[in-house]
Amino acid sequence: MKLNRYSKSVDANFSMCPWKTDQHRNHGVKEVMGDAAKLGIELHDLRASCASGQRSLEDCLQAVTIPEVADWLNKAVANDEFWSRRHEFDYEKRIALSLDGKVLKDWRRCEVMVILDRIGLIDGVVEIEDLKSNTPGFERDNPTERDTYVAAARKLYPDQDRFRFSYFYPRAPKRVAWLYTYETENRVVVTGPKGETETHEADTDPLWKRIIDRLAEIRATEPVPTPGAHCTNWYGQPCQFLGNGCPLGDQLPEILRDVPVVESPLDLDGLNHREKVWTAFVHLLAGDDHITPEIASLALQGVQQLSGAVKAVDKVLRSWSSRNGPIAIGPSEWGYVTTLKPGIKSRKVTALKMIHGSGGWKAAAKAVNISPSSVKRLGKREYGDLCDVILHVCGEQVEETVWQEVPDDLREMDGG
Ligand code: SF4
Repeated sequence: MKLNRYSKSVDANFSMCPWKTDQHRNHGVKEVMGDAAKLGIELHDLRASCASGQRSLEDCLQAVTIPEVADWLNKAVANDEFWSRRHEFDYEKRIALSLDGKVLKDWRRCEVMVILDRIGLIDGVVEIEDLKSNTPGFERDNPTERDTYVAAARKLYPDQDRFRFSYFYPRAPKRVAWLYTYETENRVVVTGPKGETETHEADTDPLWKRIIDRLAEIRATEPVPTPGAHCTNWYGQPCQFLGNGCPLGDQLPEILRDVPVVESPLDLDGLNHREKVWTAFVHLLAGDDHITPEIASLALQGVQQLSGAVKAVDKVLRSWSSRNGPIAIGPSEWGYVTTLKPGIKSRKVTALKMIHGSGGWKAAAKAVNISPSSVKRLGKREYGDLCDVILHVCGEQVEETVWQEVPDDLREMDGG
């Protein structure tokens, strides 16, 4: 795949679907931004404005366009232990780098680009902060992100050998930090939040080497469409190409290939039942909005037949994978993964179902000991967040083995 510039987001997106990444990077297709991303961007912009002194906190609070952000911004200020030293930091710092690690003034010539939410040299340690708007209880470490940010920061501060990377979750509030110590140019020791250590070594800066290797890997990989759970949940919303340009829609099973081409509006006369079903199905798939009750019925039969076939083949593949190991599609792998999931007592499950269902919130609130009036006052997003928090805090962690895409970190542990 052609890739002019490496960034953390390219890396993350490429891991999910190289074809989609290629569309955005090389074919000028604009990325559709989800609600969660809009919230995050507004929080970041306003926090940077008031922390850098461009605007007062009051001004920033008045500029909020998404109500939740005002609360998060207040928390980001109130819970920031560096607030009194906020002017010692750079905010939304863009670091543009050449492949040999030189910091460039002209970002258009760079091959590696990193944007840090906040960076500053504080008491002999380069503090790098990633501000997160996650719902409390859903914090997640991303070692690739940490390593990339520290590698870029090291190029900006080549004389420093101690770098602290922290995720700052103002809504929790919580700060989780890793200390990166360059013992030599080629050896970095990372001390995690619980004191655990990890050592990276290479014949050059190991964190920078990972970026170079990854860029080469991406450039050498075909941008194939890679389906997965992310198709329906791409950072909180379905992929913009799902049913709308994703080539997987053209790679339909043979059963659909010989469907007669019929112009819209559909004339199904003369076709047998099977042909009618698949003709209706394919025409809706192609975006034909001329739908009659007959066409809807036929197309739904197509959906049901295809779903049944998908389930049958999926079952065979699961069974095959349990004996033969993960199945690769492009850069991703599918297999059985054992994870810790919240185990919920049955009454709490019922309560949460009632929260999500219509009209059951009073009983649900009683069951989980929340005042009904406070539930009633919640906005839609807070309501969802509350459910997430309840699920998280009331759940016991239980092991569950599920068929899913194998996360990168587990694949590394498996040696895959
Ligand atoms: S729908 Fe899935 S496979 Fe298709 S482009 Fe989107 S993420 Fe890739």
